[in-house]
Amino acid sequence: MRQPFIAGNWKMNLDRASSVALVVQLAELVAESSGEVEIGVCPPACYLEAVGSVVIGSEIGLGAQNMYHEESGAFTGELSAAMLLDLGCKYVILGHSERRQLFGETDASINEKLKAALAAGLTPIVCVGETLEEREFGQTESIVETQFEGSFSGIEEVDMLKCVIAYEPVWAIGTGKVATPDQAEAVHAHLRKVMTNQYNSEIAEQIRIQYGGSVKPGNAEELLSQKNVDGALVGGASLKADDFAAIIAAAKSSK
Ligand code: PEP
Repeated sequence: MRQPFIAGNWKMNLDRASSVALVVQLAELVAESSGEVEIGVCPPACYLEAVGSVVIGSEIGLGAQNMYHEESGAFTGELSAAMLLDLGCKYVILGHSERRQLFGETDASINEKLKAALAAGLTPIVCVGETLEEREFGQTESIVETQFEGSFSGIEEVDMLKCVIAYEPVWAIGTGKVATPDQAEAVHAHLRKVMTNQYNSEIAEQIRIQYGGSVKPGNAEELLSQKNVDGALVGGASLKADDFAAIIAAAKSSK
């Protein structure tokens, strides 16, 4: 039985006061959630500490949106895994499509970050997903498979079990176009098959695969009730405490 995991990616939004206000409101809304659903929020790096001071000891875990794989040194503007841990992070999102498309991240660079995140003890949320063009050319399965194989290259079984995967079709991120439950389920099932081949079925059955791409309170329950959909990585709707709490509630009632 995989515990549903709902994580919010705030991207480059909000300011300090509104970040704190959002998480205070969210903490109140989920106070009764009794641990059935794992909950994470990933604010901008500059607000990790402020948000972390609110969520400490609560149901909500803190996550970062990115990191660099080196431990320290002359890497202007970057943050290491140890620095994120120091700020109270439990999770780190790796390989989000915006990082792949706008900042040149590749499966190889994501793999380096993944190894550093695991070595430091962070829980990585590794994103994979196809563009609209790739979907229209019938390449969805091969694209996510290639991304999985490259990003997870050299990851031992024991470390694989610490990872979360987010299937995020690029055409559905921030567009309001959500994958149908059948489309999401088909890709999640395929990823589980890929993990079975790379590792084994016991491992594949334990890894959580979140869906991401225009998840809202109105579509969450149908998506989350799919057999292989184990949670959601939520962008826009995680910026409203009521909407994010409604998605968490949908995760609870759909399993
Ligand atoms: C995301 O950024 O990971 C995401 C899924 O965004 P949205 O929910 O806004 O589509």
